[in-house]
Amino acid sequence: MENESKICRNVECDRKDQLLPLTEFYQYPNGEYYSECKRCHSRQVQENKEMGAIKAIEKLLELEIIKNSEVSSARTLFISCQSRINACRYNIGIYKDIECHWESPLAFMIDIIQKLPTVWHDWKIQNAIYEETKHDSDRPTIDRIDEFGDYSLSNIQTLSKHDNSKKARSKPCRVMIIKDLKIQGVFEFGSKKDLFSDLIKVGIPINATQIKFDTGVFQEVGNGYTLLLQSKNGEVPTADEALYKVVINHRRELIDEDTGQVIKLLGHWQYELNAGALRI
Ligand SMILES: [Zn+2]
Repeated sequence: MENESKICRNVECDRKDQLLPLTEFYQYPNGEYYSECKRCHSRQVQENKEMGAIKAIEKLLELEIIKNSEVSSARTLFISCQSRINACRYNIGIYKDIECHWESPLAFMIDIIQKLPTVWHDWKIQNAIYEETKHDSDRPTIDRIDEFGDYSLSNIQTLSKHDNSKKARSKPCRVMIIKDLKIQGVFEFGSKKDLFSDLIKVGIPINATQIKFDTGVFQEVGNGYTLLLQSKNGEVPTADEALYKVVINHRRELIDEDTGQVIKLLGHWQYELNAGALRI
């Protein structure tokens, strides 16, 4: 029978000599459990991060790239640089297709401090605000100016964590509106919030049902409306089976240039094809 509990092997564990349930241990992909408990593991990761920051700061002081009064700002900058590099390296969440042009947080920091004085200046101000309030939302973060671009010298600025997440929420998006089986058009909006409020204003009950973006599938929302919603650069899942039949009407006409009237229909073809999830 499998052992339901285990002892943490970390000598600094505050629960050593205690039998801990297996849920207190992380597992390797092969199913084996870590020798130290989750608490010790997190503490270790945190300590490694702190060590990295301390080493980087010592180096920056030694090279006279920062002054003693800038140590606190350099510490938060190190953590931010480190997390951007890791997020891009391990393709975490929204960083899937984003690259970071630096491989070491120290090189990243040196470039910001020496080549982007405005970013570093803003960072120090935002860091002072954070030091004062200690609110996580005030923490300075590295932001990409063009959110579809990489982390590179020409594409970064300082934002507070709050402004950064606000910016992430205001992603442009578009919707194709169909009313009673007729296409009304494709409309673009600066943010999902704008899209919701404008659609509700014109009587499309988008708030009455659970709305999903980037499914590639039309959604009925009521009042005879059907919508296809997509965020800019949003990824639409690929479907193996056909979901829609797309019909393309192709006409060739001879048009009178002065009146714009069709003089003669030269040909009329219709194509049909099967499609999976749709992008607009
Ligand atoms: Zn432990």
